[in-house]
Amino acid sequence: MPAPFIYSASPGRVVFGPGKLASVGTEIEALGCRRALVLSTEFQRPDADALAASLGGMAAGTFTEAAMHTPVSVTEKAMTVYKESGADCVVALGGGSTIGLGKAISWRNNAPQIVVATTYAGSEVTDILGQTENGRKTTVRDPKIRPETVIYDPDLTLGLPVAMSVSSGLNAMAHAVEGLYAPDANPVTSLMAVEGLRALKSALPRIVAAPEDRDARAEALYGSWLCGIVLGSVAMSLHHKLCHTLGGGFDMPHAETHAILIPHTAAYNATAAADRLSRAAELFGGDLGGGLWDFASSIGAPLALADLGLKDSDLAKAADMAVENPYQNPREVTRDGILDLLTRAHTGQRPV
Ligand code: NAD
Repeated sequence: MPAPFIYSASPGRVVFGPGKLASVGTEIEALGCRRALVLSTEFQRPDADALAASLGGMAAGTFTEAAMHTPVSVTEKAMTVYKESGADCVVALGGGSTIGLGKAISWRNNAPQIVVATTYAGSEVTDILGQTENGRKTTVRDPKIRPETVIYDPDLTLGLPVAMSVSSGLNAMAHAVEGLYAPDANPVTSLMAVEGLRALKSALPRIVAAPEDRDARAEALYGSWLCGIVLGSVAMSLHHKLCHTLGGGFDMPHAETHAILIPHTAAYNATAAADRLSRAAELFGGDLGGGLWDFASSIGAPLALADLGLKDSDLAKAADMAVENPYQNPREVTRDGILDLLTRAHTGQRPV
C-alpha cells in the first residue's frame, strides 16, 4: 500500500513528435497571442532566424544572446528588445540557457512562454529560475515561471553533439534519481522517474553509436521530459545542492558536473534510501552508484572533476560550502562524507 502522499499535476501543454517545430505558430495562437520574440543562444542563431522567418508576421523579432546561468544584464537587454518589438509572448528555442532567459523575461513581465527544447536538461517543465548577478547565482521558484507550452521535436536534437548528449542525458537522470528519495516523492513522480531512467539508459548508448538514430533521439527526449517533470515536482537534495555549490562557487559547467557527480551522490545515499531506490538500482545491476558509473564510463561521459578544472585545493572549500546550509537528505550530510565523495569524483574513481 502506498504511503500517504500529495500529488499536484504539472500544468502545461506538451507537444511531442518529429517535425513539431512546425506547430509553433499554432501554439502561439492557442495561447491567444499574436507576435513572439524568438530567443536563442548565439550558437543557435541560424535556427532562431529560420524559425522567425517561418513564422512571418507572427515573429516580432529575435534575441540571440542567451547565456549560461541567465545573467541579469542579458535579461535586462532582452526586456528592452521585447518591449520595443511589440511582442506579446516569447518562444525559447534551445537548452537550459535559452529557456532560462525566457523564464527570466516572463517572471518580470508575465509574457506567455513557448519552449522548443533542444537538450535534455529539463528546465522547460520546471517552475525554477536560476539567475546570476555580480558573480552570485540565486534561484527563485514560482508557478508563473513554468512555461505554458513545450514543444519536443526530436529532429532538432539530431545535431546535439554526442558529448553534450551524454552529459545532458546524465543531467536528466540525476533529476530522476533524486526524485525517487525526495521527501515529497509520490507514486506518480516515482513512476516517471523510473521510466525516465529506463528511457535514457536505453537511448544514450544508441545515440553514442549513431547520433542520428531518430528512434534513440526521440526516446532520449521523452526520458528527459519525464525526468524534468520530476525535477519540477519534488524537492532535490544532496546531488543538486552539490552541483549548485560547484557551479556557483567554482564556475563548473552545468551538465558535465551533474554527469560526473550522479554516480557518487547515488552511492552516498544508496543504503539510506535502499527501498526508494530499488527500482532504479535494478536497472543498473543492483548497485546504483557503481552501475551508474559503469554506464557513464561506457558511453564516454566525463568522470573526473579534475578534467573540468577543479583543483585539489578546491575540494576542502567545496566540502565546507556544501554543509553550510542544512537540507533534507536520506543520509546525514557530513563534511567528511562530502570530502570523501568529492575526492573520488575529482580523480574519476568508481564509487564504493
Ligand atoms: P545550454 O542551454 O547552455 O546549451 C549549451 C550549448 O549547446 C549552447 O550553445 C546551445 O545553443 C547549444 N545547443 C543546445 N541545443 C542544441 C542542439 N540540439 N544542437 C546543437 N547545439 C545545441 O545547456 P543546458 O545544459 O541545456 O542548460 C544549462 C543551463 O540550464 C544552466 O544554466 C542550468 O543552470 C540551467 N538549467 C535550469 C533548470 C531549471 O529548472 N531552472 C534545469 C536544468 C538546467
